[in-house]
Amino acid sequence: MRIRGSVAIDLGTVNTLVWVAGRGLVLEEPSAIAVDSATGAVEAIGTAADVLAEKEPQDIRVIYPLRDGVIADLDATVEMLYAFLRKARPRGGPLRPRALVCVPSGATWVERRSVAAALSARRPRYAVQLIDEPVAAAAGAGLDLSAGAGGFVVDIGGGTTEVAAVAGWRVVRAQSLRMAGNAMDEAIVNAARSELGLILSQRAARQLKTTLGLTGGPDGWAEVVGIDAARRTPRVDRVAADLVASALEPTVAAIARSVQEVLSDIPSGLAEDVVRGKVRLAGGGALLPGMASRIEAIAEIGALVVEDPLRCVIRGAAVMLDSRGDSGVPGLRS
Ligand code: ADP
Ligand code: MG
Repeated sequence: MRIRGSVAIDLGTVNTLVWVAGRGLVLEEPSAIAVDSATGAVEAIGTAADVLAEKEPQDIRVIYPLRDGVIADLDATVEMLYAFLRKARPRGGPLRPRALVCVPSGATWVERRSVAAALSARRPRYAVQLIDEPVAAAAGAGLDLSAGAGGFVVDIGGGTTEVAAVAGWRVVRAQSLRMAGNAMDEAIVNAARSELGLILSQRAARQLKTTLGLTGGPDGWAEVVGIDAARRTPRVDRVAADLVASALEPTVAAIARSVQEVLSDIPSGLAEDVVRGKVRLAGGGALLPGMASRIEAIAEIGALVVEDPLRCVIRGAAVMLDSRGDSGVPGLRS
């Protein structure tokens, strides 16, 4: 089987990562595309598009095609994917490279098939296999999935949180929640506006989230710049940890509840693997200060944040891409 030049793609709601067999991780950029609002021409993708978003230039529209964990804009998703692949993959290589694509499990079957169909329609024609995100996350989290072994993963991304018990490269029990990092940011924006009369950008809210989180960080407050809602002029303010923690609470509570529900439904045969492997937290949201201990308190079996959680899914997808069927990984289909 010709593996070189084949790709694994983690099509996340906030970040897209591309792994090329034989070269490793070659691209890691925001899932964003900027188009000219008049002509529809693609002006920028990834980081360059994301930077434009908050500055709100007049004739440019920045699209986050997967924002809420579903493929909200299929055309934009496909344009973005192709642009990323052009950037990531050198010309040449096999005529029909393989592409292993991880999509959020909230995406419908029709949306997934459309992505697969689009990738195999243009040149180079990829032989596409869609893989379940929790399975890739479990593999990337270092769980042994061979011979039916498994474990428990919680992947907290931007648009969705995937909670799953996985065994032998298959999902055993799972929930996909449309609440994750973006919902946390929005809750902070809303709280700052209603309680402080301060309008924050998503970037500023994200900053508060990562520094204060649930624990309050080193100082119990953080400085932020926003727009005064009454005067409409820039204002610097101190935001208390309590405001942020209470804004985060509904999302965190929903994630914790989902963990509890999936845990309470695992087959007894998987219990030992889950206890031994602990609950493994992946995705950017795993880094939220206080998240792991919150999940640990709910799960009562121990929880840990995987190494480099933002790259967990792509690592797992790369393992699946590299395997040649001799390790029990489901064979690649085209
Ligand atoms: P997706 O797979 O949906 O693209 P990612 O796994 O890339 O999502 O995670 C992106 C999310 O993680 C964003 O909402 C981002 O704000 C959040 N995130 C990144 N770093 C941290 C951190 N240190 N603390 C809390 N959240 C974080
Ligand atoms: Mg993800």
